[in-house]
Parts: sequence; C-alpha cells; structure tokens
Amino acid sequence: MSLILATTIPGEPEIFASLQGEGPSIGRPSVFVRLSRCNLACTWCDTAYTWRFSGDNRPHRDDIAFDRSANQVTWAEDEVAARIAALFAPAAQPRLVITGGEPLLQGSALARMVEALKQAVTALHVEIETNGTVAPHPALDALVDQYNVSPKLAHSGNPADLALVPERLTAWAAEPRAFFKFVIAEAADLSEITALQQRYTIPPDRLYVMPEGTDSATLRTRALWLAEAAASAGWRFTDRLHIHLYGDTRGT
Ligand code: SF4
Repeated sequence: MSLILATTIPGEPEIFASLQGEGPSIGRPSVFVRLSRCNLACTWCDTAYTWRFSGDNRPHRDDIAFDRSANQVTWAEDEVAARIAALFAPAAQPRLVITGGEPLLQGSALARMVEALKQAVTALHVEIETNGTVAPHPALDALVDQYNVSPKLAHSGNPADLALVPERLTAWAAEPRAFFKFVIAEAADLSEITALQQRYTIPPDRLYVMPEGTDSATLRTRALWLAEAAASAGWRFTDRLHIHLYGDTRGT
C-alpha cells in the first residue's frame, strides 16, 4: 500500500511543478511525480538514479552506482496525492505527469493514488510517461488521459526482445491516447523508426522524434538534422525544453 518514488535529496520525493518539457504537452504547466525502478537499462538514461543502484553493473555511460536508500523513498498513496495537490497553480488546468523510471511497474498503487487525487482536484488531466513494455493496470488505465510511449531503439543498449514487445506496441499503436516519442542520437536510428511505424501502423500524427541529449548544445546540433528528417518523413518533432531552461537537474 505504497509507492516507491525517486528523490531530489535523500528522503524527499521527486514531486515538483514545472513545464512539461517534451512531447504533445510541451510547455504546459504541470506537476510531476517521478517513480523509482525501471525494467530496462538505457546506456544514456538521464534518470539512472531511479534504477542503477549499487550492485547493478549493467552498462551506463556515466558508470555511476547510486545508493538505493538515498535515491528511493516509500510513501503512502494518500500522502503522495496530498503533496501533488498542493502544487497545482490555481489559474491553470491541473495536469499531472507521472514519470520514472518505469511508472507502470507500480500500476495498482498508482491507481489508488490517482483515484485519491481525482477526489481532491477537479478536471485533473493525467499523463503517463512509459517505455512501452508494460501493460497498464486496468484500474489505472481508466484514470489516464494520455500516454507518452517511448520505445527504446538499438542505441539504448537494451536487448530488442526486452525493449520492443510486439503485443504492447500493437496495443499502443491502436490506442488513441498514446503518443509515441522516439529518442534519436544518430541519423542511422531513423530507419528503425520507419520499420516500427510500418510494422505496427503507427499514425504519423502520434509519432514524435526527439534528440537525445542532456545539454543544450548537443540538443541543438541534433535538432538541426532531426527536424528536417521529421518534416520529410511526416513525423512530429519535439525538443527537450526543460534541458534548455534548467539543464540536467532533478526536480525540473
Ligand atoms: S526506459 Fe527510461 S527510465 Fe528506464 S533506463 Fe531507459 S531512459 Fe531510463
């Protein structure tokens, strides 16, 4: 009966108000909650503190092992809901972004938290960021307005049979609430997207490409060719607004 959350500092859950930095809701004022734990291990993951704990030797470009007790905190669902409710700006439509790690690993506890939050906050819009490998718990699915699904390509370093689950990709492609967001590092990654789009019939208006990068200079360099490639393929392009605004920091 609790949620395992990431932390900003030891003991303090990563729950914060900011602007959504990526995807279909970019620029919208939102409250974020970041869950700990992930079932994948991307070599460029910018939230490795949610999963790469001491003893986990899966490759990561920074090769940092995080202390689990300093980077996880366990809170009851109603405590999480109360902390989130206190952060919504009065004038804006309340939007909650549930991110991670992989949040759908904690689907049933998340459903209880969102249920409690919806009782306290009217017209709440709920979006979930997921790597697309886990089916949403039915009780949670009934409470979600939007999924931002980010399947991981070969350059993530994950085995394809873990990162690209055919029945899940089929389900997300058929789900009108789901937007695909592919992280791109090299031009060679684009052919993988074309193949996935064709295989799963992903509608182009629900397919975003986004440059990989944790600093503005890298994002800008990659955006130059990626935006052009998106335009010619008929895909949508998204930047990483929060990196330009705040850099690669927790709680933003
Ligand atoms: S799926 Fe997301 S949270 Fe998990 S390792 Fe990859 S980038 Fe990090």
